[in-house]
Amino acid sequence: MAVLTVCLKICYRHCFKDLKKLPNILLHTCCAPCTIYPLGRLRKAGWQVHGFFYNPHIQPYQEFQKRLTTLESWALKEALKIIIRADYELEDFLRQVVFREHQRCLYCYSVRLQATARLAKKSRFDAFTTTLLYSKRQNHDLVRELAQQASKEAGIPFHYEDFREGWETGQEQARSEGLYRQQYCGCIYSEQERYLTKKRRSLGQPE
Ligand code: SF4
Repeated sequence: MAVLTVCLKICYRHCFKDLKKLPNILLHTCCAPCTIYPLGRLRKAGWQVHGFFYNPHIQPYQEFQKRLTTLESWALKEALKIIIRADYELEDFLRQVVFREHQRCLYCYSVRLQATARLAKKSRFDAFTTTLLYSKRQNHDLVRELAQQASKEAGIPFHYEDFREGWETGQEQARSEGLYRQQYCGCIYSEQERYLTKKRRSLGQPE
């Protein structure tokens, strides 16, 4: 009996120690389909993941709502806790990017990554990362560079991973789950590029 008690104590201490050690990561998430693969990867690697939705430049507002509600219901199913910052910064965005529209992603990434790094630090996470590293359509190197910068400024580690390797897997799962999958990045400029370029191409016009 005494031996059993000692064994149980050792086992308890061992398990408790492991539980305490489970690192927490704040995952900036842009939408449900882009979160599927990174979430699976991070959980598999032993991270305890919390999502953070902050994407104030998704336009128009109906599209913003649609992406957010899709994420909320999917996250519930996946037992993923999400911190939602439902700010909608249309005016700020336009004021910041007008006359330099070709550089708009720099501003858009920075705002989101800086907010994520600050929140991760304030809420005592061990690190932060972003689903922007999953999309093949984002400027991957720029996202990584800005996240590293945000990490230094806020004093919190940035976890880098090239989630693009799971692009097909994530997309396939989103399709099979019948999730809403948006057809453009988010802002009105990306909406125009997506549809107008396609239309011009089909008409044989210059893009
Ligand atoms: S294209 Fe996407 S990343 Fe770039 S500014 Fe628009 S919403 Fe942001």
